[in-house]
Amino acid sequence: GGAGFRYGSHFFAQSLRRFASTLVVAEHEGGLVKPSSLSALAAAEAVSKENKISVLLGGSGRALHKAAEHAASSHPLVSEVLVADSDTFARPLAEPWADLLRSVQQKGGYSHVIASSTSFGKNLLPRAAALLDVSPVTDVTSITEERVFVRPIYAGNALCTVRYTGDDPCIMSIRSTSFSPTSDAMSETKVAPITQVDLSFLSEESLKSSWVNLTSQDTERPDLANARVVVTGGRGLKSAENFKLLEQLAEKLGAAVGATRAAVDAGFVPNDLQVGQTGKIVAPELYMAFGVSGAIQHLAGMRDSKVIVAVNKDADAPIFQAADYGLVADLFEASTLVVAEHEGG
Ligand code: FAD
Repeated sequence: GGAGFRYGSHFFAQSLRRFASTLVVAEHEGGLVKPSSLSALAAAEAVSKENKISVLLGGSGRALHKAAEHAASSHPLVSEVLVADSDTFARPLAEPWADLLRSVQQKGGYSHVIASSTSFGKNLLPRAAALLDVSPVTDVTSITEERVFVRPIYAGNALCTVRYTGDDPCIMSIRSTSFSPTSDAMSETKVAPITQVDLSFLSEESLKSSWVNLTSQDTERPDLANARVVVTGGRGLKSAENFKLLEQLAEKLGAAVGATRAAVDAGFVPNDLQVGQTGKIVAPELYMAFGVSGAIQHLAGMRDSKVIVAVNKDADAPIFQAADYGLVADLFEASTLVVAEHEGG
């Protein structure tokens, strides 16, 4: 009797353990799941090829419903799309979102919860992990086993392999630059069901924070985190005026503009352009650095770029050790040159 029951429940736990089920917290924009969240889906697949993925989306209106449809056919392993349909979730407020995540986790009992290391994901996951009494694993760049991950430490100078030994769920943020989204290889016939999340858990506590406003610059240029080409300026640019030269170059190349912390601190550009340890992590096809010395905190944000081009008047600048192509020159002349060459084909 008793022994058999124990054996039975042990066996049951074992068989549950064999199948990963993952909740992917997704962000959306313009009715589409953001590319960084598609990378989170790719990470969920890396956890297990048999992973059962639920995608959680929040917001309201048509944009949410279009994004839910996109999510429903975004990856063959997606088995369900959960939508939290409320204005409360239209904004990236970590407090109500953490409550939402806790509630959805308590109902779904997922083995893993994954979000991308965006500002939103970085803000949300630690709060949700605290509410669920687990330790999050942050900035995962590679998944070797269901609970074994690689993440950079010391500003990317060393890679650390960690095994998660805590309780379910294993909550992790992933670097979207390390997981390529599966290119729309989705069979047209497979569309996951879309379910509304019960929002009765929302309390006054959840609504303590409120959204004031968003100030952003309208730009035609691609988003820094996803751009194929990034043109970055450092302190060597010397002024906000001179950054306009880079903007012109970026315009010609269809590139995003980035900056070092020194350039941000000097007030040349706003801090959302900062690349590095305390800024954005980018890995474009082409990264061009003008007047950037190549401090380790800057390299931490761009060293995974496919091709790195550096222009600096100091031949000993450390950026040249990371660069595939280096030009020891005055950057003002060099960027003018690049524009001219590009125009000439
Ligand atoms: P500098 O180091 O001053 O380099 C300017 C370069 O421009 C020089 O190499 C110079 O030779 C060259 N130059 C000057 N004039 C010209 C010209 N006319 N033509 C060509 N070249 C010229 N930094 C980041 O970028 N991102 C981060 O996220 C970040 N996080 C940090 C976190 C911590 C905890 C700390 C301590 C620091 C962090 N930093 C970060 C700062 C970092 O250490 C460096 O101070 C910063 O990256 C330097 O920026 P820079 O290369 O623009 O400036």
